[in-house]
Amino acid sequence: MSDREEHDEHVFRLTRRKALKGLALGIGTMVLPAKDASASVWDSFFQKNFRELSRPERQKILARLEKEYSATYKKSVRVKDTPSPEGVLFGYGLDLSRCVGCRRCVYGCVTENNQSRDPQVHWIKVLRLSKERGVDLEHSEQYYNPATVPQEGYFYMPVQCQQCENPPCTKVCPVQATWKETDGIVVVDYNWCIGCRYCMAACPYGARHFNWKAPGLPAGEMNPETHYLGNRPRPVGVVEKCTFCMQRTREPDGKYPACVEVCPVGARKFGNLLDPTSEIRNVIENKRVFILKEDLNTQPKFYYFYSV
Ligand code: SF4
Ligand code: SF4
Repeated sequence: MSDREEHDEHVFRLTRRKALKGLALGIGTMVLPAKDASASVWDSFFQKNFRELSRPERQKILARLEKEYSATYKKSVRVKDTPSPEGVLFGYGLDLSRCVGCRRCVYGCVTENNQSRDPQVHWIKVLRLSKERGVDLEHSEQYYNPATVPQEGYFYMPVQCQQCENPPCTKVCPVQATWKETDGIVVVDYNWCIGCRYCMAACPYGARHFNWKAPGLPAGEMNPETHYLGNRPRPVGVVEKCTFCMQRTREPDGKYPACVEVCPVGARKFGNLLDPTSEIRNVIENKRVFILKEDLNTQPKFYYFYSV
């Protein structure tokens, strides 16, 4: 992103935030973008919430974004809006007895989902825990760095968005920029997010990440297959999170999330909770599963288990 574009994005977030504050205080005047702001800043400023857009309005926005991204990243970029599939509720399983703490899932996710390389943004964190203490998150270590893994005496617990059935993050958003879709995936409309970060404070799993700076995404590394609510490039000043790779998993050929594919030991399981023949249902029905912070009633659809 050029300095000019980054400046425009700042202008957009700030003006929308001021406008919102003005409305909250009952001040009638709306603060508009600067007169010389680019056409896309004006388009973005007046864009409605994604859920309120008509089909033609959506198509116009997707076409505008595809054009912008294709010019920026110098390749043909696709921005889809594939809806939730009928009769699907996605769920995830993680086999703690298999995970070796290699962090390939972390970097597979970065590549697939166009996360910022500089500064680094990771939607998945892998925690190192001592076998002696068990699942004691307060004594976990995220930044372990031994020569080889796994290390004697430790086990590893990857944590990412738990796609809660009762998500506290969506309830606190003052502008309804984040919500749960019918397939259970919790999404963010990056064009509607005002960057207040209330959702980050509300999430008990540290699963949301804020772009303090314009994401550093080298053109050569940009994944051009994107979803509007998922892995399309994010602007500075908005919150982002895991979406179970909706640009892959919502497609008719039903691809796995990138983290499932890249895991070298098969620790990650994924599928449709409503399908009794799915791998995830098999895990839930035949393994002793547990969810994180069950007492908070967030009802994660992310199940941890031990296969051996
Ligand atoms: S893990 Fe956090 S970000 Fe994900 S749905 Fe639950 S509360 Fe929201
Ligand atoms: S890729 Fe698999 S084994 Fe490696 S840290 Fe992630 S879940 Fe664990």
